[in-house]
This record gives sequence, C-alpha cells and structure tokens, in this order.
Amino acid sequence: MNQTDSKKIVIAIDGHSSCGKSTVAKQLAKQLGYLYLDSGAMYRAVTLFALRNQLAKNGTVDEQGLIDRLEEIKIEFHWNEASRQNETYLNGENVEEEIRQLPVANHVSPVATIKEVRQAMVKQQQELGKNKGIVMDGRDIGTVVFPQAELKIFMTASPEVRAQRRYDELTAKGQQVQLDEILKNVEDRDRIDSGRKESPLMRADDALILDNSYLNREEQLKWAVERAKERIENC
Ligand code: C5P
Repeated sequence: MNQTDSKKIVIAIDGHSSCGKSTVAKQLAKQLGYLYLDSGAMYRAVTLFALRNQLAKNGTVDEQGLIDRLEEIKIEFHWNEASRQNETYLNGENVEEEIRQLPVANHVSPVATIKEVRQAMVKQQQELGKNKGIVMDGRDIGTVVFPQAELKIFMTASPEVRAQRRYDELTAKGQQVQLDEILKNVEDRDRIDSGRKESPLMRADDALILDNSYLNREEQLKWAVERAKERIENC
C-alpha cells in the first residue's frame, strides 16, 4: 500500500430524504478523486423490480414475494461519459431515470424496511467500499454499513425546504408534479425511515450535523471539503 492509499478514507453521508445528500456527496467525491456511491439508488432499483413484477402496488409491498425473488435482482453502476456520472442498472438495463420517478419514490420506503432486502444491499455496499476512497450516501451508512467511517456527516433541512427543492428539480426536468404531493412524500419517507425496526435513520453519535436549510451549494461543499481534509490529514 503506498502513502496515498493509506490516506484514503471512507466518508458516510446520511440524512433525511431530499436534503441534497447526493449533491454534496458527488461534488465531494469529485474534489477528492473518490468513488461516489448512491445507496438509495439500490433500494430504488429493488423497488422498481417489485413494481414491474406486481410485488408492489398502491403503496403496499408483497414482502415474502419480493424476498423470494431477491436473487434475481442484479444491480450495477456504470459510468456515463456524457452525463459524467455513475448510472444505475437493473439486470443489465439502465434505469437511472425511472428510479427517480414518483411511483418508485412512493414505494421505496416500505421496500427498504425489509430485513432481507437491507442485508443484501449492505453486503454489496460494504464490498464496494472495502478499498476506501469512497463517499457513500444513504440512511444507515455511518451506523450500519461503515460504522468505522473516518468521516460521518448527518444532513438535514426543513421538510418544506426539501420539498421545494425536489419540486424545482422535477419540474426543471419537465415532470408534472404537485408541491403538496411532494411534501407528503418527503414527510411520509421521514416517518417510515426513522420509525422502522431495521436500521432506522438516525445520526451516529460521532456524525457531524450539516443543516443546509440556509446554505447554498458552494457553502455546504466548502464545509464538507474542509472536514474531509482534516480527517485525511489526521489518519
Ligand atoms: O436517498 P434516496 O432518497 O434516493 O433513497 C430512497 C429511499 O431508500 C429512502 O427513502 C429510504 O427509504 C431508502 N434508503 C435506505 N437506506 C439507505 C438509502 C436509502 O433505507 N442507505
């Protein structure tokens, strides 16, 4: 292992839905030359599989049916040179767009409460992070996936601010959405993610809090890069 390798760290970014975790995580990974992994995309891909196979509909999930078919689900990330980002593949198909839409958002939290689903995802996430030099965002990264992560950040912002940002993002892409529907989705996901039995969303004791309700992207990135550099120097 050379000196650069020994200084690579794991950065875990957890927090509430739609508070900009992936924006910070992506930018931070780029600045540090690290890999970025969006763990939420994996739960979203499983949810898309469930929807397509009638194992999820009208807000409910056939848990046992999904558990029985977990082995059929293969999730990968491939770099897209045009969009300059990793995109999510479900059984060989690029599903990056589809997993961001409301049907998936409305079913993903119940899917993510299933113990067997979590175990399968966590195993893959740990494998992807075993060489360090990674920024991973999610809900349980600092608590369950990488409890030894050198830097843990817990992000939050008010539900209204988060819903407005998601609304702006989706309408900018031309999607027809209602702000009150998005706010409801944000609040529902918070409630399910924080209240579930399996790996609930919570701040690790040693995580630094980043409330970005009143910070812009540049300010929050500056803050995160400074924290990362401190940790890299001290490890
Ligand atoms: O981060 P994102 O909003 O895309 O995640 C989608 C959903 O996946 C979350 O609402 C949560 O229910 C679930 N999730 C999780 N654990 C993670 C990442 C996401 O339970 N590590």
